[in-house]
Order: sequence, then structure tokens, then C-alpha cells
Amino acid sequence: MKAVVVNEKGTGEVQIVEKEVPKVGPGEALVEVEYCGVCHTDLHVANGDFGKVPGRILGHEGIGIVKEVAPDVKTLKVGDRVSIAWFFEGCGVCEYCTTGRETLCRNVKNAGYSVDGGMAEYCLVTADYAVKVPEGLDPAQASSITCAGVTCYKAIKVSKIEPGQWIAIYGCGGLGNLAIQYAKHVFNAHVIAVDINQDKLELAKEVGADYIINGKNVADPAAEIKKITNGGAHAAVVTAVSKVAFNQAIDSVRAAGKVVAVGLPSETMDLPIVKTVLDGIEVIGSLVGTRKDLEEAFQFGAEGKVVPVVQKRALEDAPEIFKEMEEGKIQGRMVLDMKGAGCGCGGHHNH
Ligand SMILES: [Zn+2]
Ligand SMILES: [Zn+2]
Repeated sequence: MKAVVVNEKGTGEVQIVEKEVPKVGPGEALVEVEYCGVCHTDLHVANGDFGKVPGRILGHEGIGIVKEVAPDVKTLKVGDRVSIAWFFEGCGVCEYCTTGRETLCRNVKNAGYSVDGGMAEYCLVTADYAVKVPEGLDPAQASSITCAGVTCYKAIKVSKIEPGQWIAIYGCGGLGNLAIQYAKHVFNAHVIAVDINQDKLELAKEVGADYIINGKNVADPAAEIKKITNGGAHAAVVTAVSKVAFNQAIDSVRAAGKVVAVGLPSETMDLPIVKTVLDGIEVIGSLVGTRKDLEEAFQFGAEGKVVPVVQKRALEDAPEIFKEMEEGKIQGRMVLDMKGAGCGCGGHHNH
């Protein structure tokens, strides 16, 4: 089978190699991969930012069909469509796994990082951890929900936003766009989208943002948010990879507001102690989602409440996609189509 792997030195460019189809062990299922999204986290893995993993098959936004299950597997059957997610497996017995916070498990396995992932024609999954994709959800769109979608859905859940309240979404790229859709169409919140890219803001408006703020044109986005919301947003979700956005988010929430951190700039944020104490604000980190969160996030996708924007590319395009990502040229979500032969267009249109 063909697979996209981290190069032998564990640095930078990815390679397409020929590998044996893996053998199913106890508790496992073999999945024939249909689609696998390409995420910034894959770039970090390829670059060795989390530690070098030479030869590892990348990919944690995989969707495919179960072809074989181990004799002891009860939760999946041949023909099921399932996900291959960053949260690949937890230990099942620690304080986090047993209290609904399994993504924080200290002995977690991550697809495409600590175990082989979904950027291949076939992939093994731990059957009890692979989440089924509901009927009616397009598998290419499902791949995007497997990571970006569930991450946003969970972040908004953690913000405890209620219908009719105001939420500010900082960063309107692949993550932010989905955050806006979940906030507006699932949680029934009023949404303010903040970015410095006007194209992304226009798209934000199209998918449900009530207000858009371009941080390049507005001197003080936080002050603007306070004006619109009569005192500040009830919550802010920061998907932007910038310290500036985090600091603005803190300033833009009202008393008892929550700031949920999702983006991963390698910086520290300035947290004013006086505001934190006197306004009783909370800052919370949120990481992907549990199996249950993913099941819910999928279902809203199947119901058409959330529609990920994806662009299909051939498996062979993977090295080029990683290069484009490194150079910041990617718009929207690139999804590898394992069956797509590629048309030689270089992926500049949908097919
Ligand atoms: Zn991802
Ligand atoms: Zn655990």
C-alpha cells in the first residue's frame, strides 16, 4: 500500500513510500482509508517539533471503511465507516479516562504521531476508539470534522455559551470557520468573528457570523466587541496562532467571561491579574474532543448544520501540500483522496 511518511531524518519534507498492509491484532480493525485531511499538526510532526518520528505514517483526520476486525472485536463490523483521529486511544483506566476527560490521558496514543495514521491506503484502528461516521455525512467532510470540527465543537462546549449569548471567535481559518458554524447553528449564540484577513472574514459572514471585525482596520477590536455586546462577550474562543489575539480575547470578555485557548502559538499570553480577579474571568485550554464529542460533532455535520469546506487532492500531492502549508499558501482544508488518481492540475480546483 502507498503511505505518506515522515522522512528518515524526521525533518521536514514527507515521502510517499510502499508499505505492507498491516496485520490485525487483538482489539483492532483494518480500515481501507477513503480520505485523510492535512492539518497543521501534521506539519509539526513532520518537522519533529514534538520529537522525531522518522518513518511514521502521518495523518489524524482519516475516514474509511472497516475491511476486517479481530475475532475479539464487538464494537465494529466489516462495512462500518469510521474515523482515525488524533485521540487514537487512551489507557482507559486513569483518572482522566474514567472521568470523561480521556483526551488528557497521560498514556494517550495519537494517530500519525505515536502510532501510524490515516495517510495511507490502509490503517489499523483500536476498534473501541474508532468513532462511527453517521449516514448522510459526506466522508471528505467527515475527515475535517475528525480534527478541526470536533476541536471547535468541544471548545465552544467548554465555553459554556448559552443560546442568545455573545461569543467572539478569534481567527477565521480552517478552525475558526467551523467554530463559527457550531457556535451559530448548534449553540444558537450570537457570533463576532475577528481576523486580519478580509477574505476569511467574508467567508465567516457567509457561514453565520453576525459581526466581523478586521483587526487591521479597527484600532481596538476588544473595545469594538464591548460596544456591540453592551459590555463584552460572554465567551471567546481563540483559534488564531498569535499572542495578540489571546490578549485581545481577554480584554473582550465581560465579567464571568470565559476565554478558551485552542491555537498554539509558542508564546506566552499576558493575563492581567486585576481583570482576572475582579471580573472573575476564566482561561481554559481545550484539546480535540472525546469519542462522545466526535460522535456529536459528526451528527451535526450529518444534519447539515455544519458544512466543512474541503478541497480534495490526490495522495501523490502530499509532499507538495506540506510544502504549500509550510509556506502559508493553503486556503481552506486539503483532504487527500486515497482513490483519486490526481488530474495533474496541482490541486487548484475541486474534483
Ligand atoms: Zn488536525
Ligand atoms: Zn488514561
